[in-house]
Amino acid sequence: MEVIVFIKQVPSNENLKVDREKGMLVREGVPSIMNTPDKNAVEEAIKLKEKFGGNVTVVTMGLPQAKEILSEAIAMGADQGILVSDRSFGGSDTLATATILAGAAKKIGKFDVILCGMEASDGATGQIPSKLAEILDIPALTCAEFLEITKDTATIIRTNESFKEKIQCKLPLVCSVSTKINIPRIPSEEDRKNAEKSVFLEFSNKELNLNEADIGANGSPTKVAGSYLTPERKKGIIIKGSDEKDAGKKLIIELLSEKII
Ligand SMILES: Cc1cc2nc3c(=O)[nH]c(=O)nc-3n(C[C@H](O)[C@H](O)[C@H](O)COP(=O)(O)OP(=O)(O)OC[C@H]3O[C@@H](n4cnc5c(N)ncnc54)[C@H](O)[C@@H]3O)c2cc1C
Repeated sequence: MEVIVFIKQVPSNENLKVDREKGMLVREGVPSIMNTPDKNAVEEAIKLKEKFGGNVTVVTMGLPQAKEILSEAIAMGADQGILVSDRSFGGSDTLATATILAGAAKKIGKFDVILCGMEASDGATGQIPSKLAEILDIPALTCAEFLEITKDTATIIRTNESFKEKIQCKLPLVCSVSTKINIPRIPSEEDRKNAEKSVFLEFSNKELNLNEADIGANGSPTKVAGSYLTPERKKGIIIKGSDEKDAGKKLIIELLSEKII
């Protein structure tokens, strides 16, 4: 079974900083990590390899520093990593990004299953997996909490608001996974150190040969009209009183003054 996993490097949530003037995420100097559900996608891919044999190829589009997450995936058990990077890819919205990632999948050539996380924690559109499937003209099963692959069929289960859905399709497919699907393995220190020595393939547009009109800002129909931040939340207060009755009174006064009641 040939499995491709698309993984994205995102700023660590714990250290997320926002430039309130520019209304943008501060990425400089902020530690980056592998997007959380992408780790679950890598785990699921390795489980498929353990069951069926074959290869797991992890692919990320980003700056050269994104090799860090390729190395992490190799330490977990992936076989090879590919960095997709080119100046002409800058400014890509979700459509152009999916076009580039689909180009990388075509360049790899053979695949039975393409796995993604269900949403990236920074862009958070969840659009890439479906767009990728559309461009590759294969089915997409999204937000999987359970995945079973038999010889030529994939079955997923996902929770849709108040009910569960079981969906099937034939291979090849794109499947995006939720964090509920598995618990990603933690590589040993030795595996991490060995993975750091890995050499990764690099795809620029020279290799992908995509039309310049379909990538980067040229291939991006989305335009950001503006961005704004929600007001900073007020700190909570603790209301104290001489007894419960007094505290209750003070609470009512506070709620009235804040026009909550
Ligand atoms: C007008 C515009 C301009 C932009 N310009 C830039 C820019 O210059 N530079 C920039 O970095 N971003 C830019 N972005 C953001 C970029 O479009 C998104 O990061 C990208 O399309 C992924 O979307 P998302 O984060 O919503 O992913 P989602 O759809 O939420 O991600 C779902 C899954 O898809 C896979 N995936 C997503 N992105 C990648 C990736 N890069 N590599 C591998 N797998 C991936 C992962 O498995 C992920 O879990 C721009 C966006 C817009 C709208």
